[in-house]
Amino acid sequence: MKALVYRGPGRRALDDKPKPTIRAATDAVVRMTKTTICGTDLHILKGDVPSAGDGRILGHEGVGVVESVGSSVTNFRAGDKVLISCISSCGKCTNCRKGMYSHCENGGGWILGNRIDGTQAEYVRIPFADNSLYPIPAGADEEAMVMLSDILPTGLECGVLNGRVEPGDTVAIVGGGPIGLAALLTAQFYSPAEIVVIDVDDNRLEVARTFGATGVVNNGDGKAADKVMAMTGNRGVDVAIEAIGMPASFDICQAIVTAGGRIANIGVHGRPVTLNLDKLWDRNITLTTRLVDTSTTPMLLKTVASGKLEPKQLITHRFTLNEAMEAYDTFSNAMTERALKVIISNE
Ligand SMILES: [Zn+2]
Ligand SMILES: [Zn+2]
Repeated sequence: MKALVYRGPGRRALDDKPKPTIRAATDAVVRMTKTTICGTDLHILKGDVPSAGDGRILGHEGVGVVESVGSSVTNFRAGDKVLISCISSCGKCTNCRKGMYSHCENGGGWILGNRIDGTQAEYVRIPFADNSLYPIPAGADEEAMVMLSDILPTGLECGVLNGRVEPGDTVAIVGGGPIGLAALLTAQFYSPAEIVVIDVDDNRLEVARTFGATGVVNNGDGKAADKVMAMTGNRGVDVAIEAIGMPASFDICQAIVTAGGRIANIGVHGRPVTLNLDKLWDRNITLTTRLVDTSTTPMLLKTVASGKLEPKQLITHRFTLNEAMEAYDTFSNAMTERALKVIISNE
Protein backbone atom coordinates (compact mmCIF):
# COMPACT_ATOMS: atom_id res chain seq x y z
CA MET A 1 0.00 0.00 0.00
CA LYS A 2 1.02 3.66 -0.39
CA ALA A 3 2.15 5.48 2.75
CA LEU A 4 3.91 8.72 3.71
CA VAL A 5 7.05 7.60 5.54
CA TYR A 6 9.52 9.40 7.80
CA ARG A 7 13.03 8.56 6.63
CA GLY A 8 15.10 10.28 9.32
CA PRO A 9 15.55 14.02 10.06
CA GLY A 10 14.54 16.21 7.13
CA ARG A 11 13.54 13.28 4.91
CA ARG A 12 10.14 11.91 3.91
CA ALA A 13 8.89 9.78 1.00
CA LEU A 14 5.71 8.30 -0.45
CA ASP A 15 6.67 4.62 -0.18
CA ASP A 16 5.20 1.17 -0.71
CA LYS A 17 4.61 -0.51 2.66
CA PRO A 18 2.96 -3.80 3.64
CA LYS A 19 -0.75 -3.54 4.45
CA PRO A 20 -1.24 -3.81 8.25
CA THR A 21 -2.92 -6.87 9.76
CA ILE A 22 -4.67 -7.61 13.07
CA ARG A 23 -1.99 -8.38 15.69
CA ALA A 24 -3.98 -8.28 18.95
CA ALA A 25 -7.58 -9.28 19.62
CA THR A 26 -8.34 -5.63 20.45
CA ASP A 27 -7.06 -4.28 17.08
CA ALA A 28 -8.96 -3.01 14.08
CA VAL A 29 -7.61 -2.35 10.60
CA VAL A 30 -9.15 0.74 9.02
CA ARG A 31 -9.13 1.70 5.33
CA MET A 32 -8.33 5.41 5.39
CA THR A 33 -10.58 7.72 3.40
CA LYS A 34 -9.38 11.11 4.68
CA THR A 35 -6.43 12.23 6.76
CA THR A 36 -4.49 15.42 7.40
CA ILE A 37 -1.08 16.73 8.46
CA CYS A 38 -0.42 18.12 11.95
CA GLY A 39 2.26 20.53 13.16
CA THR A 40 3.47 17.59 15.22
CA ASP A 41 4.28 15.69 12.00
CA LEU A 42 6.60 18.56 11.09
CA HIS A 43 8.24 18.25 14.54
CA ILE A 44 8.89 14.56 13.81
CA LEU A 45 10.37 15.46 10.41
CA LYS A 46 12.77 17.88 12.10
CA GLY A 47 13.94 15.00 14.32
CA ASP A 48 12.39 16.49 17.49
CA VAL A 49 10.48 13.31 18.44
CA PRO A 50 12.97 10.47 19.07
CA SER A 51 10.21 7.88 19.66
CA ALA A 52 9.26 8.18 15.97
CA GLY A 53 11.91 6.16 14.18
CA ASP A 54 13.19 5.91 10.63
CA GLY A 55 10.60 4.14 8.45
CA ARG A 56 7.57 5.20 10.51
CA ILE A 57 4.34 5.96 8.61
CA LEU A 58 3.26 9.42 9.79
CA GLY A 59 -0.19 10.74 10.74
CA HIS A 60 -2.49 10.50 13.76
CA GLU A 61 -5.71 11.99 12.40
CA GLY A 62 -8.40 10.88 10.00
CA VAL A 63 -11.55 8.98 9.13
CA GLY A 64 -12.05 5.69 7.35
CA VAL A 65 -13.98 2.45 7.03
CA VAL A 66 -13.32 -0.56 9.27
CA GLU A 67 -11.78 -3.33 7.17
CA SER A 68 -11.41 -6.02 9.86
CA VAL A 69 -11.49 -6.33 13.65
CA GLY A 70 -9.84 -8.59 16.23
CA SER A 71 -11.87 -11.22 18.07
CA SER A 72 -12.50 -9.12 21.20
CA VAL A 73 -13.63 -5.91 19.47
CA THR A 74 -17.34 -5.49 20.20
CA ASN A 75 -18.18 -1.85 19.34
CA PHE A 76 -17.22 -1.98 15.65
CA ARG A 77 -17.39 -4.32 12.69
CA ALA A 78 -16.25 -4.36 9.08
CA GLY A 79 -17.91 -1.64 7.03
CA ASP A 80 -18.41 0.85 9.88
CA LYS A 81 -17.41 4.44 9.16
CA VAL A 82 -15.16 5.64 11.96
CA LEU A 83 -13.34 8.66 13.33
CA ILE A 84 -9.82 7.83 14.53
CA SER A 85 -8.73 9.49 17.76
CA CYS A 86 -5.13 10.75 17.86
CA ILE A 87 -4.95 9.05 21.27
CA SER A 88 -5.20 5.26 21.53
CA SER A 89 -6.27 3.95 24.91
CA CYS A 90 -7.16 0.66 26.60
CA GLY A 91 -9.98 2.19 28.66
CA LYS A 92 -9.14 -0.12 31.56
CA CYS A 93 -5.95 1.04 33.29
CA THR A 94 -5.86 3.46 36.23
CA ASN A 95 -5.19 6.52 34.09
CA CYS A 96 -7.81 5.57 31.49
CA ARG A 97 -10.37 5.11 34.27
CA LYS A 98 -9.68 8.72 35.25
CA GLY A 99 -10.32 9.82 31.65
CA MET A 100 -6.60 10.55 31.25
CA TYR A 101 -6.34 8.48 28.06
CA SER A 102 -3.20 10.30 26.92
CA HIS A 103 -1.30 8.53 29.68
CA CYS A 104 -2.76 5.03 29.17
CA GLU A 105 -0.55 2.61 31.07
CA ASN A 106 -1.10 -0.33 28.74
CA GLY A 107 0.86 1.05 25.81
CA GLY A 108 -1.68 3.61 24.60
CA GLY A 109 -1.43 7.40 24.49
CA TRP A 110 -0.10 9.27 21.47
CA ILE A 111 1.36 6.29 19.64
CA LEU A 112 -0.17 6.60 16.14
CA GLY A 113 2.34 7.93 13.65
CA ASN A 114 4.85 8.01 16.49
CA ARG A 115 5.59 4.66 18.16
CA ILE A 116 3.48 2.71 15.65
CA ASP A 117 2.56 3.34 11.99
CA GLY A 118 0.04 6.11 11.42
CA THR A 119 -2.83 7.25 9.25
CA GLN A 120 -1.18 8.85 6.20
CA ALA A 121 -1.56 5.58 4.30
CA GLU A 122 -4.17 3.44 2.56
CA TYR A 123 -4.69 1.38 5.73
CA VAL A 124 -3.84 1.73 9.43
CA ARG A 125 -3.90 -0.67 12.38
CA ILE A 126 -5.69 0.83 15.41
CA PRO A 127 -4.89 -0.77 18.80
CA PHE A 128 -7.62 -0.84 21.49
CA ALA A 129 -10.16 -0.18 18.74
CA ASP A 130 -13.22 -0.18 21.04
CA ASN A 131 -11.87 2.82 22.97
CA SER A 132 -9.87 4.57 20.21
CA LEU A 133 -12.44 4.82 17.41
CA TYR A 134 -15.75 6.68 17.28
CA PRO A 135 -18.70 5.90 15.01
CA ILE A 136 -19.37 8.65 12.46
CA PRO A 137 -23.02 9.77 12.57
CA ALA A 138 -24.98 9.16 9.36
CA GLY A 139 -24.82 12.12 7.01
CA ALA A 140 -21.89 13.76 8.81
CA ASP A 141 -19.36 15.68 6.73
CA GLU A 142 -16.22 13.55 6.72
CA GLU A 143 -13.86 16.47 6.19
CA ALA A 144 -15.30 18.21 9.24
CA MET A 145 -14.90 14.96 11.20
CA VAL A 146 -11.15 14.90 10.48
CA MET A 147 -10.83 18.07 12.56
CA LEU A 148 -12.11 16.07 15.54
CA SER A 149 -9.22 13.58 15.64
CA ASP A 150 -6.82 16.02 17.28
CA ILE A 151 -7.06 19.78 16.89
CA LEU A 152 -10.56 20.46 18.25
CA PRO A 153 -10.24 18.28 21.37
CA THR A 154 -6.71 19.66 21.87
CA GLY A 155 -7.83 23.30 21.64
CA LEU A 156 -10.81 22.60 23.90
CA GLU A 157 -9.21 20.37 26.55
CA CYS A 158 -5.70 21.82 26.84
CA GLY A 159 -6.68 25.44 26.16
CA VAL A 160 -10.29 26.21 27.00
CA LEU A 161 -11.13 23.68 29.72
CA ASN A 162 -7.75 23.81 31.45
CA GLY A 163 -7.91 27.62 31.19
CA ARG A 164 -11.42 27.50 32.75
CA VAL A 165 -12.83 30.05 30.29
CA GLU A 166 -15.95 31.59 31.84
CA PRO A 167 -18.73 33.92 30.63
CA GLY A 168 -17.42 37.48 30.48
CA ASP A 169 -13.74 36.51 30.52
CA THR A 170 -11.06 38.19 28.46
CA VAL A 171 -9.08 35.50 26.67
CA ALA A 172 -5.83 35.81 24.72
CA ILE A 173 -4.71 33.06 22.37
CA VAL A 174 -1.00 33.25 21.52
CA GLY A 175 -0.68 31.56 18.11
CA GLY A 176 -3.20 31.68 15.25
CA GLY A 177 -2.39 28.31 13.65
CA PRO A 178 -4.89 25.45 13.46
CA ILE A 179 -4.61 24.68 17.20
CA GLY A 180 -5.00 28.31 18.24
CA LEU A 181 -8.00 28.62 15.93
CA ALA A 182 -9.49 25.42 17.38
CA ALA A 183 -9.17 27.01 20.84
CA LEU A 184 -10.80 30.16 19.44
CA LEU A 185 -13.78 28.19 18.06
CA THR A 186 -14.33 26.11 21.20
CA ALA A 187 -13.76 29.00 23.67
CA GLN A 188 -16.96 30.49 22.31
CA PHE A 189 -18.97 27.62 23.90
CA TYR A 190 -18.37 29.53 27.17
CA SER A 191 -19.27 33.07 26.05
CA PRO A 192 -16.10 35.00 26.93
CA ALA A 193 -16.49 38.77 26.47
CA GLU A 194 -13.25 39.26 24.50
CA ILE A 195 -10.96 36.90 22.62
CA VAL A 196 -7.70 38.39 21.33
CA VAL A 197 -5.57 36.33 18.93
CA ILE A 198 -1.84 37.03 18.62
CA ASP A 199 0.25 35.94 15.62
CA VAL A 200 2.80 37.35 13.16
CA ASP A 201 0.78 36.40 10.07
CA ASP A 202 -1.85 38.95 9.00
CA ASN A 203 -3.69 36.33 6.94
CA ARG A 204 -4.14 34.13 10.00
CA LEU A 205 -5.27 37.12 12.04
CA GLU A 206 -7.87 37.93 9.36
CA VAL A 207 -9.08 34.31 9.55
CA ALA A 208 -9.19 34.60 13.35
CA ARG A 209 -11.51 37.59 13.02
CA THR A 210 -13.90 35.64 10.81
CA PHE A 211 -13.80 32.81 13.39
CA GLY A 212 -14.93 35.13 16.19
CA ALA A 213 -11.85 36.91 17.55
CA THR A 214 -12.89 40.29 18.96
CA GLY A 215 -9.36 41.64 18.63
CA VAL A 216 -6.10 40.67 16.91
CA VAL A 217 -2.48 41.62 17.54
CA ASN A 218 0.35 41.24 15.04
CA ASN A 219 3.48 40.45 17.02
CA GLY A 220 5.84 41.17 14.12
CA ASP A 221 7.50 43.87 16.27
CA GLY A 222 7.66 41.64 19.37
CA LYS A 223 5.45 44.04 21.35
CA ALA A 224 2.33 41.87 21.65
CA ALA A 225 2.35 41.89 25.46
CA ASP A 226 2.39 45.72 25.61
CA LYS A 227 -0.42 45.89 23.05
CA VAL A 228 -2.60 43.42 24.93
CA MET A 229 -2.04 45.31 28.19
CA ALA A 230 -3.06 48.55 26.44
CA MET A 231 -6.17 46.86 24.97
CA THR A 232 -7.24 45.68 28.43
CA GLY A 233 -6.70 48.99 30.26
CA ASN A 234 -3.52 47.54 31.77
CA ARG A 235 -5.53 44.86 33.51
CA GLY A 236 -4.37 41.86 31.47
CA VAL A 237 -6.35 38.78 30.51
CA ASP A 238 -8.23 36.20 32.55
CA VAL A 239 -7.00 33.36 30.38
CA ALA A 240 -3.80 33.24 28.30
CA ILE A 241 -3.67 30.21 26.00
CA GLU A 242 -0.21 29.30 24.70
CA ALA A 243 -0.65 27.66 21.28
CA ILE A 244 2.85 27.78 19.78
CA GLY A 245 5.39 26.09 22.09
CA MET A 246 8.22 28.64 22.14
CA PRO A 247 9.82 30.49 25.09
CA ALA A 248 8.79 33.85 23.55
CA SER A 249 5.13 32.85 23.30
CA PHE A 250 5.10 31.54 26.87
CA ASP A 251 6.65 34.84 27.98
CA ILE A 252 3.77 36.75 26.41
CA CYS A 253 1.34 34.65 28.46
CA GLN A 254 3.26 35.38 31.67
CA ALA A 255 3.31 39.10 30.90
CA ILE A 256 -0.42 39.46 30.20
CA VAL A 257 -2.12 37.16 32.73
CA THR A 258 -4.18 39.15 35.24
CA ALA A 259 -4.39 38.52 38.98
CA GLY A 260 -6.29 35.30 39.54
CA GLY A 261 -5.88 34.40 35.87
CA ARG A 262 -4.94 31.17 34.16
CA ILE A 263 -2.15 30.28 31.74
CA ALA A 264 -3.12 27.19 29.77
CA ASN A 265 -0.23 25.73 27.80
CA ILE A 266 -1.02 23.76 24.63
CA GLY A 267 2.25 24.16 22.69
CA VAL A 268 4.79 21.35 22.34
CA HIS A 269 7.93 22.79 23.93
CA GLY A 270 11.31 21.58 22.72
CA ARG A 271 13.30 23.90 25.00
CA PRO A 272 13.01 25.02 28.64
CA VAL A 273 11.22 28.27 29.41
CA THR A 274 11.80 30.68 32.29
CA LEU A 275 8.97 30.81 34.81
CA ASN A 276 8.95 34.39 36.14
CA LEU A 277 7.95 33.56 39.71
CA ASP A 278 9.58 36.80 40.87
CA LYS A 279 6.68 38.59 39.16
CA LEU A 280 3.98 35.92 39.52
CA TRP A 281 4.42 34.53 43.04
CA ASP A 282 1.71 36.77 44.52
CA ARG A 283 -0.65 36.94 41.52
CA ASN A 284 -2.90 33.95 42.36
CA ILE A 285 -2.42 32.52 38.91
CA THR A 286 -2.84 28.95 37.71
CA LEU A 287 -0.54 27.35 35.14
CA THR A 288 -1.72 24.17 33.42
CA THR A 289 -0.19 21.67 31.00
CA ARG A 290 -1.81 18.71 29.29
CA LEU A 291 -1.59 16.26 26.47
CA VAL A 292 -5.01 15.94 24.86
CA ASP A 293 -7.06 13.03 26.22
CA THR A 294 -9.80 13.25 23.54
CA SER A 295 -12.29 12.70 26.37
CA THR A 296 -14.44 15.48 24.83
CA THR A 297 -14.68 13.84 21.40
CA PRO A 298 -18.22 12.43 21.92
CA MET A 299 -19.46 15.90 22.93
CA LEU A 300 -17.65 17.57 20.02
CA LEU A 301 -19.17 15.07 17.59
CA LYS A 302 -22.62 16.26 18.68
CA THR A 303 -21.76 19.95 18.33
CA VAL A 304 -20.48 19.37 14.80
CA ALA A 305 -23.48 17.22 13.84
CA SER A 306 -25.84 19.96 15.09
CA GLY A 307 -23.95 22.74 13.28
CA LYS A 308 -23.00 24.55 16.52
CA LEU A 309 -19.37 24.06 15.59
CA GLU A 310 -18.21 24.35 11.98
CA PRO A 311 -14.66 23.03 11.87
CA LYS A 312 -14.66 22.72 8.09
CA GLN A 313 -13.69 26.39 8.02
CA LEU A 314 -10.20 25.26 9.03
CA ILE A 315 -9.61 23.39 5.76
CA THR A 316 -7.76 25.40 3.12
CA HIS A 317 -6.24 22.80 0.76
CA ARG A 318 -7.14 19.36 -0.61
CA PHE A 319 -4.86 16.66 -2.02
CA THR A 320 -4.99 12.95 -2.90
CA LEU A 321 -2.77 10.42 -1.12
CA ASN A 322 -0.68 10.28 -4.32
CA GLU A 323 -0.02 14.01 -3.80
CA ALA A 324 0.96 13.62 -0.13
CA MET A 325 4.47 14.99 -0.76
CA GLU A 326 2.97 18.18 -2.27
CA ALA A 327 0.56 18.35 0.67
CA TYR A 328 3.57 18.43 3.02
CA ASP A 329 5.26 21.12 0.88
CA THR A 330 2.13 23.28 1.17
CA PHE A 331 1.61 22.68 4.91
CA SER A 332 5.31 23.31 5.66
CA ASN A 333 5.05 26.71 3.97
CA ALA A 334 1.82 27.62 5.71
CA MET A 335 2.45 31.37 5.71
CA THR A 336 3.20 31.78 1.97
CA GLU A 337 0.62 29.14 0.99
CA ARG A 338 -2.01 30.58 3.39
CA ALA A 339 -2.51 27.04 4.65
CA LEU A 340 -4.38 25.96 7.76
CA LYS A 341 -5.47 22.32 7.57
CA VAL A 342 -4.92 20.25 4.41
CA ILE A 343 -7.11 17.24 3.64
CA ILE A 344 -5.50 14.18 2.06
CA SER A 345 -8.13 11.92 0.46
CA ASN A 346 -7.81 8.31 -0.56
CA GLU A 347 -10.97 7.34 -2.39
ZN1 LIG B 1 -1.67 16.40 15.90
ZN1 LIG C 1 -5.24 2.58 29.51
